[in-house]
Amino acid sequence: MNLALFRAFPNEHLFSLLLRLYKLSGYGDFITFQKNVGIQDRFLHANKVFSSTAEKLITHLEDRDETIKAHSVVPLWQMSVGQIIDVEDTRLQLFNHMNEQQLFGFDTSWHSCKKCRQDDLVTYGTSYWHAKHQLPSVFECYKHHCTLDKGVEPVKNLFTEILPHQVVAWNPVLSRISGDLKCWQSFVWKIDAISHNQPSTVADIKHRLIELLGLNIQSLPKRKAICELHNPHFESALGPVLIKYIFRDYTRSTQRGKTNILSSMFANIHKAQGVRNPIYWVALAYWQRAKLGLN
Ligand SMILES: [Zn+2]
Repeated sequence: MNLALFRAFPNEHLFSLLLRLYKLSGYGDFITFQKNVGIQDRFLHANKVFSSTAEKLITHLEDRDETIKAHSVVPLWQMSVGQIIDVEDTRLQLFNHMNEQQLFGFDTSWHSCKKCRQDDLVTYGTSYWHAKHQLPSVFECYKHHCTLDKGVEPVKNLFTEILPHQVVAWNPVLSRISGDLKCWQSFVWKIDAISHNQPSTVADIKHRLIELLGLNIQSLPKRKAICELHNPHFESALGPVLIKYIFRDYTRSTQRGKTNILSSMFANIHKAQGVRNPIYWVALAYWQRAKLGLN
């Protein structure tokens, strides 16, 4: 099967396209179909962007730049990488993800919007998973501004072969939306928009934050001391509702020691492997948004 012959629907996530193509292909099982197009992936998570699967799908489609922007959440991840993920560069698979899905308060399964599902079924005869519904911590549809849904039985992995209209029952991703959370979401959308239009600006935020917080130093004990100093300010700037929504550790009654997000990012004795979820950097940028000129 030549993937280049098939088009993704507007803002369709690459993994949704892969799943639909398999369903159209007539192959008896998903993994055999994948092997036929040079892919072998049993873990199709919404925010898995660094993999040979994403790389192969992007390469298969015609316009690499357009594909990354319109059909993936890759642009936002430039914030964590701290460099532009160049459209000519085919190194997505060289980066690794940290194993941190369990660290967030917000839901990380595949999300969908009721109105989009209805519209897509009428227009295209099928529903599909939109890329912008999967931006981490975002809870409203980018088109309809209604609250996004998650499966009552959460769809974590598209290897289970489920498209949105096949989900039996839905729940809203959030039941109570406060002003704090709305303000946060607007900021995530703003950073995402910058990551599309001015990638060098978004890639630079990480380095500016490190400089701004005085963390551009070798000594681990000194970095730790700076983190201890800053962390209470970071926590109070975000406020209790937002910080619980972002980081699960703040929702636990018995915490594993004192939570210190800054130390976990900058003063971890065990050197963290892989690329951190961009939400960590978005949270720091949100705290420092006035100084970064991102208000
Ligand atoms: Zn929608």
